Amino acid sequence: MTTVNDIVSRFEEFSPKWLAEKGDPIGLQLGDLNQEVHKMMVTLDVRPETVQEAISQDVDFIFAHHPAMFHPLYSFDLSVPQNKMYAKLIENHISVYAAHTNLDSAQGGMNDWLADKLGLQGSEPLLGPFEEKTYKLAVFVPVNNAAHLRQGLAAAGAGQLGNYSNCSFSVQGKGRFLPGKNSDPYIGKVDQPEVAAEEKVEVVFPAKYENQVLAAMYANHPYEKIVFDLYQIEDSGVKYGMGRVGDLVKPVKLKDFVAQCKEAFQIPALRVVSSELQQNIQRVAVLGGSGAKFYTDALAKNADVYVTGDVSYHTAHDMLASGLNVVDPGHHFEWVCQPELQNLFTKWSKENEWAVDVIATTINTDPFTFM
Ligand SMILES: [Zn+2]
Repeated sequence: MTTVNDIVSRFEEFSPKWLAEKGDPIGLQLGDLNQEVHKMMVTLDVRPETVQEAISQDVDFIFAHHPAMFHPLYSFDLSVPQNKMYAKLIENHISVYAAHTNLDSAQGGMNDWLADKLGLQGSEPLLGPFEEKTYKLAVFVPVNNAAHLRQGLAAAGAGQLGNYSNCSFSVQGKGRFLPGKNSDPYIGKVDQPEVAAEEKVEVVFPAKYENQVLAAMYANHPYEKIVFDLYQIEDSGVKYGMGRVGDLVKPVKLKDFVAQCKEAFQIPALRVVSSELQQNIQRVAVLGGSGAKFYTDALAKNADVYVTGDVSYHTAHDMLASGLNVVDPGHHFEWVCQPELQNLFTKWSKENEWAVDVIATTINTDPFTFM
């Protein structure tokens, strides 16, 4: 049996929740993490038509990029189409989970997919990097108990470095203590100075495992009073970042790049901000969604052109004045995540023997028609 939780736990290893911008309503939006899943559907948006498709396809779990519930709910009046949609989801036992700005910043996530579509080489994050805090735990334990403690710490997620697990370092030394009147020492006797053969065990782990690693330390250590150091270290694990900036294989005229964008995103038209369509461009920044406010970051990274959605009139004036070329293919160009998410979940389904069918929506949820 595979649950929503099994699926999203795997996803969150790839695209952790802490990457999401503050206030972004990501995660389980509707339904139940313990719900059994047989068929899931990936989609950019959750709209009434998408829900109808999910119902007709017997889908029990929708995985969306854009949060389905993007407005706070103050009433559940079913004459409101949005509320009616939630009701349909509940009636049909369909759970909904959203991965929004955390998917935008994931390595191999939304913005890498967009950069790949544009053929960018050597791309790096446009914003960031965002790094997860890494902690080091150094704990002093009797030599004879060290192996047991190390196993416990590893089982709690400590000591994972890339493709290596159970990583630790130890050095042996002497621990000294004087057990007091009310103590119950594991080694030594009350009121007698003791020198114990101890090992200092050092492990690193991502901040998110802090509670479970400390719990494992307490559970696998024989002392009443444990001596340990816990601190943040400079070295960090995976680096994440939003947007991408990279180079086209060779310079092309802006007008030809625009044609490439239309083909890549399968759209008949788009908006361009530029004073010269014949100029050569090579360095391209891209940011899925509404990235207009980050155009100065694209400038700072020496981009010749910036591809993003939802550019507004006055911002376009500022972009033009700054000399940055901008291509706005519309927010919906993020639809490219659909086949990519389908591939990812299909791969994880096989690896984990989930017996879950993964489909992608076939509905175009772009509210705009290009004419
Ligand atoms: Zn978006």
